[in-house]
Amino acid sequence: MTTTYAIALGSNRPGRHGTPADEVRAAVAALGDGVRGVSAIITTAPLGPSIRAFANAVVLVESAMAPPAMLRHLKAIERAFGRRRGRRWGARVIDLDIVLWSGGRWRSAGLVVPHAGYATRDFVLRPLEQVAGAWRAPGTGRRVRHLAHMVDRRRPRP
Ligand code: ADP
Ligand code: MG
Repeated sequence: MTTTYAIALGSNRPGRHGTPADEVRAAVAALGDGVRGVSAIITTAPLGPSIRAFANAVVLVESAMAPPAMLRHLKAIERAFGRRRGRRWGARVIDLDIVLWSGGRWRSAGLVVPHAGYATRDFVLRPLEQVAGAWRAPGTGRRVRHLAHMVDRRRPRP
């Protein structure tokens, strides 16, 4: 049986593919045949001690993998892109997170779906709305587009 994952991509460091936006595009390509929807790539001011701007996007990926296998797959792509582990908010060539899953909630060692905090992050919700606006966020009953509009109202952008 196949399920669908909403995967958030982020980069704030140039890598061998080019700029952060180029790294995001290359990671979408690396996700391969299962990709069903790709948001625009947005550029976001840095968060935390990192001084670089981020490129962010969200894609839908159809896969027969269970969530832990999908996470291993994403981590293998991160490693292939030269990401160094251990610096949570530092510069990274690529960060791949499972934001939502059509199977609903998942919780196992090192993996929580929906991703913690996505529902208040503008840089996740804006691209997520483009590919999964009608999805319902587990636990809230709200659609993604509703969450995206709530964040918009709270944090107006220039
Ligand atoms: P962050 O994405 O929060 O900036 P990392 O990419 O370093 O930081 O992730 C830290 C850990 O978060 C990963 O090693 C992974 O095991 C865990 N994690 C928990 N839930 C998820 C999820 N839904 N998607 C991706 N990683 C997750
Ligand atoms: Mg991550």
